Amino acid sequence: MKKLPLELMGHDTIKHLTKESHLSLDIDSTVKMKTAQYARQLLIEQKNNPRQSLVLGILPLVLLIIAWWGLFFKLLPLLLENDCPPWLMAVVFVFYLGLVGYSWVIYTLHEGGGHKQIILDTKNNSSRFFKSIRFLLHQLSRLKFADPEFYRKNHETHHRYTGTEKDETLTHFVLPVRLLLSLIPGAGIFWWNEFQVHTGKEFDRSKIISHLVGTPLLLGEIYLSWSYFGVWSIALVSVLAPWIGFIFDRVRECSEHNLIVQEGEWGARDFGLSFYGIIVGGGPWGQCCHLSHHLAPSLQWYNQWRLHFYLKKLLNKKQISHYLPLVEKQSSGLHFFSNLIMKNHLILKELKSNKDQANHVVPVLGEQ
Ligand SMILES: [Zn+2]
Repeated sequence: MKKLPLELMGHDTIKHLTKESHLSLDIDSTVKMKTAQYARQLLIEQKNNPRQSLVLGILPLVLLIIAWWGLFFKLLPLLLENDCPPWLMAVVFVFYLGLVGYSWVIYTLHEGGGHKQIILDTKNNSSRFFKSIRFLLHQLSRLKFADPEFYRKNHETHHRYTGTEKDETLTHFVLPVRLLLSLIPGAGIFWWNEFQVHTGKEFDRSKIISHLVGTPLLLGEIYLSWSYFGVWSIALVSVLAPWIGFIFDRVRECSEHNLIVQEGEWGARDFGLSFYGIIVGGGPWGQCCHLSHHLAPSLQWYNQWRLHFYLKKLLNKKQISHYLPLVEKQSSGLHFFSNLIMKNHLILKELKSNKDQANHVVPVLGEQ
């Protein structure tokens, strides 16, 4: 069977099928209005508390640097002292470094490069010194080879056209094969995987800068781990740790929008501060409250939490299980994710079997 091109997946067909399968849920105007009012109130508070906003914006960076330092200068020596088997030490190292690197990228690339809100652009921060610091902070994802310029352009389109064909991230319906191909080691850098957002295909000026900035840190991490793992540290640092981070990142992107087909700001879901939300979301400052982020993209990470807790009180049971699926603890993260991918598979099957309808919306099926 011919592979179904993603651009011809037929958004209307998916919408129709998700409605039929009761996977779609509209939000009434009162809920929308109350949510918008509360989000506005949070934005005003954020603006009126520049010091708090500055401290909390920088806090994740400080904590992640401490976590990184702790790995190389505390945890590895401790494991060695306690005669930890080398294979176990390597597993701990890869997972730890992978998760810290992932959390760093999602915060500095999304909140930093994408939305420029690690330090907000307020009147108090208008000096040249602050502007330079602000600029540098929003480039920090380059330390892990990500490209903030590429990301910003794509992410803008994602927010503006969420849930429509113009949203080029195509994360409202993720083909299972697309996800699986992105989970192979090295998928974050290899050409055959188009399901990545941290960097573009073109080797342009911005991508070269990211390589120039990222390489010294990569070499430094290999150097620091060499005395523990020898030549293996090259593979652990440059392939396996980034791979762990990339797996969580792809699972995250498949979970935030997949089968939430509403257009606009309500086209996303929150995982909340669940284990799944914190780990798959890339840390408490990552994307554990993605619906809250779409409802008010200018809110900093801690205010996304507050909007999430407000939604938890405001929405009814049915709306909560749709938009905040892990909040009620009805299912574990693993169950939620496998269920989601299974629904994709079933919808795809129905799409392929219903050729009359599919021919109308997805022309390529007629050629199979
Ligand atoms: Zn965003």
